[in-house]
Amino acid sequence: MQTNKLLFGSTIGIIGGGQLGRMMTTAAKHMGYRVIVLDPTPDCPTAQVADQQIVAAYDDLTAVKELAKQSDVVTYEFENVYLQAAEILEAAGILPQGAQSLRITQDRELEKQAMVESGQPVADFAIVRTKEQLTEAAAEIGYPAVAKTCRGGYDGKGQVKLTSLEDVDEAVSMLNHADRLIVEKWVPFDKEISIVFTRNVAGEITYFPVGENIHRDHILHATIVPARVSKSVQEKAHQAAKAIAETIGVVGTFAIEMFVCGEEILINELAPRPHNSGHYTIEACDVSQFEQHIRAICGLPLIPIHAHPAAVMVNLLGKDIEPFFAQLDDNPSAHIHMYGKEAAKPLRKMGHITFIGDDPVILYNELVEKKIIDN
Ligand code: AMP
Repeated sequence: MQTNKLLFGSTIGIIGGGQLGRMMTTAAKHMGYRVIVLDPTPDCPTAQVADQQIVAAYDDLTAVKELAKQSDVVTYEFENVYLQAAEILEAAGILPQGAQSLRITQDRELEKQAMVESGQPVADFAIVRTKEQLTEAAAEIGYPAVAKTCRGGYDGKGQVKLTSLEDVDEAVSMLNHADRLIVEKWVPFDKEISIVFTRNVAGEITYFPVGENIHRDHILHATIVPARVSKSVQEKAHQAAKAIAETIGVVGTFAIEMFVCGEEILINELAPRPHNSGHYTIEACDVSQFEQHIRAICGLPLIPIHAHPAAVMVNLLGKDIEPFFAQLDDNPSAHIHMYGKEAAKPLRKMGHITFIGDDPVILYNELVEKKIIDN
């Protein structure tokens, strides 16, 4: 385990070259680090701001070893890192985050176990491998429920909502490509929230304000900060973050998504990396989720977090680009982040915008009125 401080001039290797790697790199560059990214796509979003790119597949272990040779420390921007690569880097003592966070978050069964082991509330669930088990689990948990592949799903992919026995066949078809499914009770939540935090090697944690997330088509549309929930719900989110972080041994920036039902929370998903719902931290906090992550993995002290009273982040998907830039003059306070991606597919995340304000309710209402937020 790396415990020494890595100062400016050191080289950070990043596996994955999307927007999260790009924003990590921007933070690392202003602190004076060199950055090498490993990604199969030449000129990927991260490579455009990094010092160097190794163009290779994520499971190309020769390339991973080359990245290790050239880096003082390695991190990743997504959870589906090839586990063997993470184990090699951990054994070489240059992956302060370790492989365990990845092992757990790559598999919904292990992820749920970690939540339960941490003493945190989750929706009723069962792991199933056959049609019979699926039918039985859905009947026991009760409809509506949702079936998800244990590995490889994201943004609602690999999920089927089960409203009655008739939907079971569609879910069973996922078993053609997956060995296990998780069946969860469908939660009639009031809100979805997330907490992004950073933990260093010594176990100290800093928490960013809790965000309230609005999804459209299973993709994050907007994050409102602070979440419009009670102090007691915010407190529960903090306690859950601490318990889960300590159970898993998190290092770096990490995010937890939760459902809010009245005054109760249920933990939904873990992300062992900076998170889309934490992008607001770039302008709304004195240190961003990316800079704090770089500090954690380089052994620098974490900055105590101070935040503006309110922020709203809105994702710009391919379909949003033209309408937003057409009304740019009406939104002079929008901070613009574009990721340097080429093809503007309608539902692809191309960038985001962040607004700062004094009150989350007023700011949110203004953005709904201006149709920046879909309502
Ligand atoms: P996930 O990939 O598990 O984060 O799910 C993506 C989205 O699907 C979540 O953000 C929720 O909006 C919805 N969802 C997932 N699981 C459930 C559930 N058990 N009950 C209600 N909604 C869910």
